[in-house]
Amino acid sequence: MLILDGKAVAKARRERLKERAAKFMTLRGRAPGLTVVLVGDDPASQVYVANKIKACAEVGFESKEVRLPANVTPSDLKVAIEKINKDPSVDGMILQLPLPKGLDADSALEWIAPGKDADCLTSENLGRLWSGRALTTPCTPWGVMAILEHFRIQVAGRKAVVVGRSQIVGKPMAHLLLQADATVTVCHSKTPDVREHTLNADLVVVAAGRPELLGAKDFKKGAVVVDVGIHRQEKGGKTRLCGDVRFNELEGHVSAATPVPGGVGPMTITMLLENTLILAENH
Ligand code: NAD
Repeated sequence: MLILDGKAVAKARRERLKERAAKFMTLRGRAPGLTVVLVGDDPASQVYVANKIKACAEVGFESKEVRLPANVTPSDLKVAIEKINKDPSVDGMILQLPLPKGLDADSALEWIAPGKDADCLTSENLGRLWSGRALTTPCTPWGVMAILEHFRIQVAGRKAVVVGRSQIVGKPMAHLLLQADATVTVCHSKTPDVREHTLNADLVVVAAGRPELLGAKDFKKGAVVVDVGIHRQEKGGKTRLCGDVRFNELEGHVSAATPVPGGVGPMTITMLLENTLILAENH
């Protein structure tokens, strides 16, 4: 079984990003810039934001963190986002999700100028993606495509199944696979028999958010399995990460699979950096 090592793909792409950022610096006299908006003090969100800031520094991007209190009003959040929209030193922005209770993420995301939407979550950018005129691309599904491309996994003409239909992962994943000429089926929580579909698939992308939901018996022999899920499990005082797939069952059955950790995870921030550079080059 080929291990689809996302860490290695992310490393290679970040090396190229470093070179592209240096070239941008020479041409424009400044580094590409990303601003991260963090509302409240959720510990997990703080770790994600710190990782994004660190990743920016590693490839030579400028980054800023705008922190707002959990009790910020929607109108003050809107003012803060609009200020970043107008800031010429910022090329891309992300609003760290989830937002604290009382703030509606769907409305807040629409306040981001599409030309600065580094996560590709505004309806304008999703519409552009759907109509084949993408400015940016949703980071996690794009990261999956980058892994498949890196390992030369054939997508065109293959039967692909996406398990999950979230706005952030499942739906754009299905779209990117369709754009790459796969025949795509989307399964979700109301699909009566998910296995009926996954067993038929050449390629399965699992993004159900359910720890170790699928195992070897759910996949066709020789299939390619990409696991987007990430879960922290506490066992005997120790913490381990697992995905939506029981990875240890796959050896000898499927032809290739992403591990957790070290599969799709490292790709998400990498593609955020790629989106930021695209926005900077367009800015
Ligand atoms: P979500 O909860 O928003 O969506 C889950 C989707 O799976 C839903 O569409 C639901 O219908 C479907 N689903 C749930 N149970 C199912 C079942 N038993 N059978 C079939 N479909 C089922 O989650 P999400 O934001 O799309 O994230 C999915 C997973 O990916 C989570 O574990 C999340 O932590 C992880 N994730 C990882 C990254 C990364 O960088 N690697 C990024 C985003 C999300």
